Amino acid sequence: MSDCIFCKIINHEIPGKIVYEDDVCLAFLDLSQTTDGHTLVIPKQHFNHILDVDADTLSHMIKVVQIVAKNIENKLGAKGFNIVSNMNEIAGQSVHHFHIHIIPRYNESDGFKAIYTDRSNEVDLDKIYTKLVD
Ligand code: AMP
Ligand code: ZN
Repeated sequence: MSDCIFCKIINHEIPGKIVYEDDVCLAFLDLSQTTDGHTLVIPKQHFNHILDVDADTLSHMIKVVQIVAKNIENKLGAKGFNIVSNMNEIAGQSVHHFHIHIIPRYNESDGFKAIYTDRSNEVDLDKIYTKLVD
């Protein structure tokens, strides 16, 4: 028996509002509902985060993200989405079973804030690039 809360949802030990299920993964409503329809897609096998999951499972999951998002667009009238996966505490991961957030967007003040700071005046882009490709 697993201590992982998402494994418990997979095993029906605790309830989840499941909107999609197949042999590989599950999609269910996030309790927090950052915006209406906020959904998590998880693999049925336990992986800690995105870098642990195998490529076949990951590619299947992203197809499921698209299916689920299209349904939210059709049924709830979402105008766009933020598709997010937090990895490790530093990035805000609180449940250590890999998951992809589907966060529907309805307007600019609907509850989700994606803040991408512009640091272009402070950093040396060439230096970062060289480190990555050398
Ligand atoms: P993260 O912070 O990226 O690890 O996301 C974990 C998410 O899981 C949070 O948005 C929580 O609201 C959500 N969550 C935690 N427990 C449950 C649960 N039992 N059912 C549905 N969502 C959950
Ligand atoms: Zn798990």
